Amino acid sequence: MPEFRFCPHCGHELARKDLFGRERAYCPACRFVHFHDPKLSVGGLVVEDGRVLLIRRGVIPRIGFWAVPSGFVEYDEQPRVALAREIEEETGLRTQVGRVIDVFPNADPAKPGVFLFFEATVTGGELQPGDDVSEARWFGRNEMPWEEMAFTEMREVLKVYWRKISAIATETYLEERAQRGDQTKFLAAMSKVADVEPPDERDRL
Ligand SMILES: [Zn+2]
Repeated sequence: MPEFRFCPHCGHELARKDLFGRERAYCPACRFVHFHDPKLSVGGLVVEDGRVLLIRRGVIPRIGFWAVPSGFVEYDEQPRVALAREIEEETGLRTQVGRVIDVFPNADPAKPGVFLFFEATVTGGELQPGDDVSEARWFGRNEMPWEEMAFTEMREVLKVYWRKISAIATETYLEERAQRGDQTKFLAAMSKVADVEPPDERDRL
């Protein structure tokens, strides 16, 4: 990480010493201490009709590759508000941001920090690519661009997610069958579930 040479508050030259457990830059004139804070970013798993919303990145890093809608949290912004803002900027869709699915390191090594991955549900708006993206569209399980995903960690989480919705779907349909005794409907539903989890992925997960 690049270090400040001068105090951002008073302009005095910074010194370095052991402070709060490690060496940090500090200002002998005004006592400012420079903490390298982790950069916080947020991403959303937006799902509708068994499909996931992805954007094709229009900026570096990984320009031209697919990712979930995501972005950096402003210093005075709550993560869920930040994510709803990013999703709307990138896809035109308004969302309700729900639970945290996972937490992992930021993909961009130039901006070390934490990535919070949330569930989000569409509440309005129209799908259209916005700032920093060249495309925004829905992907079903068999359409997922696994080889063109921007970030490995996110790809792995999405794979686990697909396995999970298959499991949930199976459970739901089993209940439905038990309640209604409707074998035909159950079989149709099961073929749909098979459709969302191709066999080549099963062994690996
Ligand atoms: Zn200073």
